[in-house]
Amino acid sequence: SFHKSKGQHILKNPLLVDSIVQKAGIKSTDVILEIGPGTGNLTKKLLEAGKQVIAIELDSRMVLELQRRFQGTPFSNRLQVIQGDVLKTELPRFDICVANIPYQISSPLTFKLLFHPTSFRCAVIMYQREFAMRLVAQPGDNLYCRLSVNTQLYARVSHLLKVGKNNFRPPPKVDSSVVRIEPRKPGPQVNKKEWDGFLRVCFIRKNKTLGSIFRQKSVLLMLEKNYKTLQAVLASLLNNGSSGETTFYSPMDLADQSMGIEDDDKEMDDDMEMDEEEGDGGETSDFKEKVMNVLKEGGFEEKRSSKLSQQEFLYLLSLFNKSGIHFT
Ligand code: SAM
Repeated sequence: SFHKSKGQHILKNPLLVDSIVQKAGIKSTDVILEIGPGTGNLTKKLLEAGKQVIAIELDSRMVLELQRRFQGTPFSNRLQVIQGDVLKTELPRFDICVANIPYQISSPLTFKLLFHPTSFRCAVIMYQREFAMRLVAQPGDNLYCRLSVNTQLYARVSHLLKVGKNNFRPPPKVDSSVVRIEPRKPGPQVNKKEWDGFLRVCFIRKNKTLGSIFRQKSVLLMLEKNYKTLQAVLASLLNNGSSGETTFYSPMDLADQSMGIEDDDKEMDDDMEMDEEEGDGGETSDFKEKVMNVLKEGGFEEKRSSKLSQQEFLYLLSLFNKSGIHFT
């Protein structure tokens, strides 16, 4: 019996398993990380293709079944099974990751891999179809969102295979896709938190103009607090004093902690009125002008995040930073 809550959908089509392994481009010297091996259908082919498989599996029954399956075979000393939650496990060094994962961990797992400290060649992962299409979406595509921009900053992403739900037992509710993720080397020269905070603001409504997003009072307040804090720190450094305790406000306070998928409803909904717009003059208005000038300088005021390329986002962030405006 399978655990729905653990996302247990076993690949039952051997041709599909072959095709995933073939598309992964495994070398005979590769150490392969497999996440959620289940009963081992994919694991077996991975052992045939590579040097070593390290598999991380949450369900102890599956771990036992896996060990039983390979016990006494030539594979057994090339397979290492780690029982645990992949999200809480320190990942070993590996060359390539191949996985048919439970879909509920798609987003955190993807970013765990992207931020993995030791470099690897690529990850070939089965995702729910819509999540996969978001990962690979380009500016102007319907599904282009924060997740697309975020992922593509750190990796080259390509769609490899469409997989119908009937290739699994039991079949999941939705179709799937296999995606290849190749970390960029060297990685991008951005501050992770700054970049993430910046994108969160830009994608508060992906089809609103940046001008109207950055006129929102809550956004301006957050940016202005960061700005003032930074100015104070700089001033105290100039005065040779210590900076004392500093509080930076980040867009985390405005949005959830996800890396860009769960809040899509918010991104999509363009008919919704902006909760609060237009500062009430006074303190914020000078700062507001400063922010608007940055947008104008780059020609971004009338642009929308749904159509901006990664280069444009990077450029806009650099303009903000140049003016001392920070998102973390
Ligand atoms: N790889 C097998 C296959 O293709 O037939 C099984 C895939 S099934 C979609 C997902 C597997 O991941 C299940 O065996 C499940 O127990 C395991 N799993 C679920 N959550 C996990 C987690 N947080 N960490 C590691 N494994 C997990």
